[in-house]
Amino acid sequence: MNPFVAKIIYILGYWVANFVIRAPHIKVHRQAPIRSNRNTRRDTSFFLAVGVGGFLVPLLYVFSSLLSFADYSIPWWIGMTGVVILAFGDWVFWRSHKDLGRNWSPKLEIRQDHKLITHGIYQRIRHPMYASLWLLVIAQAMILPNYVAGFSGLLPFAILYFLRVEKEERMMLEEFGSQYEQYRKTTGRLFPKLGNTAASDRVTYD
Ligand code: SAH
Repeated sequence: MNPFVAKIIYILGYWVANFVIRAPHIKVHRQAPIRSNRNTRRDTSFFLAVGVGGFLVPLLYVFSSLLSFADYSIPWWIGMTGVVILAFGDWVFWRSHKDLGRNWSPKLEIRQDHKLITHGIYQRIRHPMYASLWLLVIAQAMILPNYVAGFSGLLPFAILYFLRVEKEERMMLEEFGSQYEQYRKTTGRLFPKLGNTAASDRVTYD
């Protein structure tokens, strides 16, 4: 794929889309009081590393020639598959923000009036937002024809995900007890649980 086209697609599909989807939630997040949190300095470091690898390094690639030593060419069909993955990732990102609503938080936090969400995209999988971020960092590697800028999102996000997901589930279990335990039984982490599709198997809580 032509590097110029790749850059435009990346700016629109990654930065613009992320900003448009997330901005209204950041406003709500700042207003809704937090009851407890499980944040550590290690999480925060990798959270920042994801920002650097997913946003700042590609920014450098798009607007300067500093990373040109790592340019390479990507077959068009890989780039196009990346664009489809990016679009799907954006949709999942949007949908999970919409379903999580006021309960969303960029870190491991529980709000004053936190509700366990088990409907919409959360009905089948517990971590659709993280699934969307996996899709976005994979798309980044398939679209940007530069070894550094293409792959800079993957490693920090992979580390953050594996550091966080167990901890987040433990926090949810402590907060919601048997409700979360039941929810865990009928859902998968990133992919729907196979053999558990009957409507009667699903749980819904208000
Ligand atoms: N892991 C989820 C949510 C990411 S946002 C996902 O990938 O979609 C992180 C915050 O969401 C956590 O601090 C936690 O408080 C909250 N959270 C996670 N799962 C939730 C759920 N099912 N219902 C309500 N809040 C949830």
